[in-house]
Amino acid sequence: MHVKKGDEVLVIAGKEKGKKGKISLAIPAKDRVVVEGLNKIKRHMRPRAIGQMGGIVEQDAPIHISNVMLVCPKCGRASRTGNRLIAAADSKGRARKVRFCKSCDANIDE
Ligand SMILES: [Zn+2]
Repeated sequence: MHVKKGDEVLVIAGKEKGKKGKISLAIPAKDRVVVEGLNKIKRHMRPRAIGQMGGIVEQDAPIHISNVMLVCPKCGRASRTGNRLIAAADSKGRARKVRFCKSCDANIDE
């Protein structure tokens, strides 16, 4: 996945097109993400337990990751991302894969 929990994304397709939000949940198995406050759906709930209220509940519905673009935290543009290897990234000299912004070339992951 090119995006993950905590990323700010721009929605590029669907009814929320053009809006930005933060990913509150990533669902890698389904290639979907939930963006805070976007793609709300109304659920009509039936009271299931005694004392519990029924009614209409608003929830954020997952969006397919192909419909979102990462907003680069460095340059602020909705950007395509790539992966690259940082050689000897940790104290043990192991390489690590990080995402980078194709607009400004900054590494997105620390
Ligand atoms: Zn950038």
